[in-house]
Amino acid sequence: MNGSLRCLILAPTGEDTALITEALASAGFQPHPCDSLAGLCAEITQGAGVVIITTEAVVDQAAAEITATLAEHPVWSMLPFVLLTSADSPSEVDTDVVDLFGPRASVSLTERPCRSATLMSSVRSALYARQHQYDVRALLDRLDRQAQDLERSNRELQRFAFATSHDLQEPLRSIMSYLDLIEQRNAERLDERSRRYFRYVIESAGRMRGLIGALLEYGKVSETRPRMTTFPGETVVGEALHNLHAMIEDSHATITVGTLPTIHADRALIAVLLQNLIGNAIKYRSADPRVEISATETANEWTFVIADNGIGIAPADLERIFDVFQRLHTSNEYRGHGIGLATCKRIADIHHGRIWVESTVGVGSRFFVSIGRPTS
Ligand code: ADP
Repeated sequence: MNGSLRCLILAPTGEDTALITEALASAGFQPHPCDSLAGLCAEITQGAGVVIITTEAVVDQAAAEITATLAEHPVWSMLPFVLLTSADSPSEVDTDVVDLFGPRASVSLTERPCRSATLMSSVRSALYARQHQYDVRALLDRLDRQAQDLERSNRELQRFAFATSHDLQEPLRSIMSYLDLIEQRNAERLDERSRRYFRYVIESAGRMRGLIGALLEYGKVSETRPRMTTFPGETVVGEALHNLHAMIEDSHATITVGTLPTIHADRALIAVLLQNLIGNAIKYRSADPRVEISATETANEWTFVIADNGIGIAPADLERIFDVFQRLHTSNEYRGHGIGLATCKRIADIHHGRIWVESTVGVGSRFFVSIGRPTS
């Protein structure tokens, strides 16, 4: 047990105080007599394991003062009190006193005259309970430090990925333009096989540029501070559909938009999110593609639903598709970089929401995104 857990004592008669102090000291505890209520409150603020107090000490405003002192304590703290009652005091009075200490005290009653062993066992179990609180607090502190470390290293990693992608752009740009030059100047001299190899190199460089661009977009979502405004859901869906105009025309997809609520969010980010989800619904289509956009609202959140009748996703892949670079197809089957859904997840996180999908292979998918509503 922690040796610093002090036993504070407040009893109006010096005789009681002396007796309790002696009994505690001889049992190996750390008694700390207080000569007044103000002294007791000051000691509680310094830290205590248990308070041993007699009912006579809890007069007038005493309990209110103790309650006010305890209210200053951190949320994990619930200070144990051993309240020494008198055999002749009516039991409802003692019960009332227990309630007077408020919710931050755990009070146990011990009737006087009591045997020393009875008092010691009450004090010991109170100190165990208090020690347990300190242990939980230490654990919470450690978890909090770990969460902060993790957040810091996560931020550093993101910054690193962002800076690296940014710095890679320039050399890649010059590689691509020199490849173009070399191809133009040597077109006639290259045989068929060399021309094919050359095309592979240029295609790979193009894919790399696409990947770097996608990574930069992903990084930007995390780096920018969200600008929250209130706007109708229809407007932002309209923007996403406008940006996907060519894709919708080419695929002959039928898009249905239900009634959408007015939401409070970062409009640009929500547009990116919807564009990614609607774009995917069209990209991973089957014959006669249909996409339905709808939303529901509760007191705590708005939830957008993007439903398609496309190729669907196998149960084993339903979660990993939201991680960076997780693709279920090759670039030859479907173009993409595997960053769209990771970006959507990040946007949902920023809005204190989440994203998930329900899907059946060959039937279609329903993507859900919840957005936390601000508490007013
Ligand atoms: P990308 O589309 O660039 O590959 P995403 O992160 O947007 O990257 O999607 C990850 C993977 O999830 C895709 O490769 C695809 O296999 C799957 N996926 C996403 N949306 C759908 C959808 N609506 N229907 C079927 N599969 C989908």
